[in-house]
Amino acid sequence: MDTRTGLPVVGMVGGGQLARMTHQAAIALGQSLRVLARTPEDGAALVAADVQYGEHTDLAALRTFAKGCDVVTFDHEHVPGEHIRALAAEGVRLHPGADALRHAQDKAVMRQRLTELGAPVPRWRRIGSADDLAAFGAEVGWPVVVKTARGGYDGRGVWVLDGPDGLAAAGLDPAPGPGPAADLGPAAGSELAAGSGLELIAEERVALTRELAVQVARSPFGQIAVYPVVETVQRDGICVEVLAPAPHLPEPLAVAAQQLAIDLATELGVVGLLAVELFEVGGALVVNELAMRPHNSGHWTIEGARTSQFEQHLRAVLDYPMGDTTLTAPAVVMTNVLGGPEGGMGIDERLHHLFAADPGAKVHLYGKQTRPGRKIGHVTVLGEDLPEVRARAARAAQWLREGR
Ligand code: ADP
Repeated sequence: MDTRTGLPVVGMVGGGQLARMTHQAAIALGQSLRVLARTPEDGAALVAADVQYGEHTDLAALRTFAKGCDVVTFDHEHVPGEHIRALAAEGVRLHPGADALRHAQDKAVMRQRLTELGAPVPRWRRIGSADDLAAFGAEVGWPVVVKTARGGYDGRGVWVLDGPDGLAAAGLDPAPGPGPAADLGPAAGSELAAGSGLELIAEERVALTRELAVQVARSPFGQIAVYPVVETVQRDGICVEVLAPAPHLPEPLAVAAQQLAIDLATELGVVGLLAVELFEVGGALVVNELAMRPHNSGHWTIEGARTSQFEQHLRAVLDYPMGDTTLTAPAVVMTNVLGGPEGGMGIDERLHHLFAADPGAKVHLYGKQTRPGRKIGHVTVLGEDLPEVRARAARAAQWLREGR
């Protein structure tokens, strides 16, 4: 509790753009988010007043950080489960808890649990060798999607393989033993490059018609609020656009997707936000991934819903009653702004051009240095007519990327 305000202190581990936008929501609730950042350049460290520095893998740093927090939550899923358990045993309130969060940390654990719950998932298997992969491919048909169980994001750690030889070609040798990190190739983050004993799963490649996502928030009391289902559009494994609500989604399928998200939040004991990434496959739904924090597929809610996902996450972890999730306009489109080519116009000038071109576009910049392909912000446009709103959002993102 902050004795000056009489309001609770929420600590967020991780200082990226999600913490930055959660801080923004905390301010409106009379709070100031406490952030555990790695460097003063982290997006949230640039704007929050109450920042500590440390590694999310360092139990001592986490323990110091948690002192004086009413509740601790996360802007990513990389805090080791054993650290979360250790702190919980010492009386720290952490949401989501380790038992829920493991389903967002490890794709094999998530697939296993969802299979047990009878939730719709692609056919999948843990892969311990090229022979396992060959057998799985023979069963479900090639190509097969291979994923690292842990540490992947934005399509890193996901490979589409045409045959069992693809495993070695991609530098993915799941067999324990020494192996040079460089073998993993540019597609893999260095955190994956353990060099040996990579834990992999294989999935059938689903003939998806499009990708959907549902945000749901759950409080310790058990209250649940669900947002309208959205369509997410990916390019090269990165989400580039979110359409809310998902256009032309039949009502029964929308309700089924929301019910699925509610059931998963309840079954897994999630507290805070849960984002359920889905594939639409011939009029049915398949779960792709889970995230237990505010998520890129929910950024549209800042202007597009009565309660933003960031405020909702805070309400949920604090056990406040949930906010209204209804749309504020018939059509809402969020477009990610990726860093453009080196050189050219500065971001301030590009922003100037965008504001001149479209006074209605709402911009969120994350305070990041521009690098080609890096997510540096997003734009949201609201309106009556989806094609028009979509075109405006795409145009706005282009202004911010290229200045023309
Ligand atoms: P990440 O954790 O990097 O976001 P995902 O598991 O979400 O990885 O996969 C990234 C993208 O790869 C998905 O958004 C989807 O486009 C595609 N993809 C993943 N799994 C499958 C699958 N089983 N079938 C078809 N496409 C898939």
